Amino acid sequence: MQFEFRPYQRRFRQSLKTHYGEWSVREGILIRLDDRFGEITPLEWFGSESMQDAIELCQSAPHDIDLDWIQQIPFPACQFGFESALNSEQFQAMPQSALMSDEWRSLWDQGYRTFKLKIAIAPIEIEIATVQALLDQLPQHANLRLDANMGLTESETHQWLEFCDQSRIEFIEQPMRTDQFETMLKLSQMYRTAIALDESVSTLAQLKACYERGWRGIFVVKPAIAGFPSQLRQFCREHQLDTVFSTVFETEIGRRAGLQLAAELSQRAVGYGTTHWFDELNSEDFEELWKSL
Ligand SMILES: [Mg+2]
Repeated sequence: MQFEFRPYQRRFRQSLKTHYGEWSVREGILIRLDDRFGEITPLEWFGSESMQDAIELCQSAPHDIDLDWIQQIPFPACQFGFESALNSEQFQAMPQSALMSDEWRSLWDQGYRTFKLKIAIAPIEIEIATVQALLDQLPQHANLRLDANMGLTESETHQWLEFCDQSRIEFIEQPMRTDQFETMLKLSQMYRTAIALDESVSTLAQLKACYERGWRGIFVVKPAIAGFPSQLRQFCREHQLDTVFSTVFETEIGRRAGLQLAAELSQRAVGYGTTHWFDELNSEDFEELWKSL
């Protein structure tokens, strides 16, 4: 197969604020194998290779690559990009969750019914009041998820879970650091509201390890950095994992490959509602995306 690649930079309309700080430019690589497309979107602070590693791998690739070469790729985001390009299949519709910027109403009008809010940025009392105010406004059948990105202490996690049990929150994502696994496991059995592991399970090896250690709550899967889709599919199916599939801010090319896996493997609304975060590279046409670089 003839291989070509084109790196891109995509500026967030407004910086994404999380417990890690601010993120303002998404860098990635579109790849082309004959007339099939794939996308590489590293997320280094989540444990994937760096953008530099991915570029170097693409530069060192032969112009004509085969399956054997793809199977030897050592990096998870590159594994995803190349294997999903090989298997670019038909897109299936899935219910979507939108990461909120400032206004839920316009997202609601676009058809979103599941929303996600980042927490552990401001003091907890203020954030609980903000979430309560939001719940008061949201229609009854709206669904809200919270993501702490490891920013809570044990007592803050209790505080949030108590609040969540009395309101209607679907789950809290990664309340505590990855080395607090046992505490999160204990907490996941104490409250009605589910806990979803995200940072703890960013690679397939970590996901397997958490499963072995007894995690039966929700697993957030970011397929774009989880390695070969074929291996992810096999593990999720074998153990019937409760999963939420989530974006690392891909263009439509990576997004569609991730959504395809989600449609096969997950029952929950997917976390891919992020195009409203960008002004550029928003096309849904692969060829057009490719030509714009
Ligand atoms: Mg998360």
